[in-house]
Amino acid sequence: MATDYDELRTDVKENQEQSLQALQSASAPTAKSVVLELDEADGLDSDGPGGEIVAEELIVHVIPQASDEFTCYSCFLVRHRSQIAREKDGVAYCVECEG
Ligand SMILES: [Zn+2]
Repeated sequence: MATDYDELRTDVKENQEQSLQALQSASAPTAKSVVLELDEADGLDSDGPGGEIVAEELIVHVIPQASDEFTCYSCFLVRHRSQIAREKDGVAYCVECEG
């Protein structure tokens, strides 16, 4: 009867291994497909027209000086024209730099 027990154990062990392999083989492609979908989404974001719009918005923020703004010649910060304390020879100084 010992042989039967061994066979039973072997069957149980094989079943456990098979179910484990089934879980691994079932979850592995799912994880890959999720990563693939994420990669595709990133590609669309960076290459698509949406990404270009974001880049243009960033450029606008990098060059923020508008018609109602000035760059302080002392601290080089862009400020609203209402904060001009002194303007001379085409350069302006903000109220903070002029005290
Ligand atoms: Zn200043």
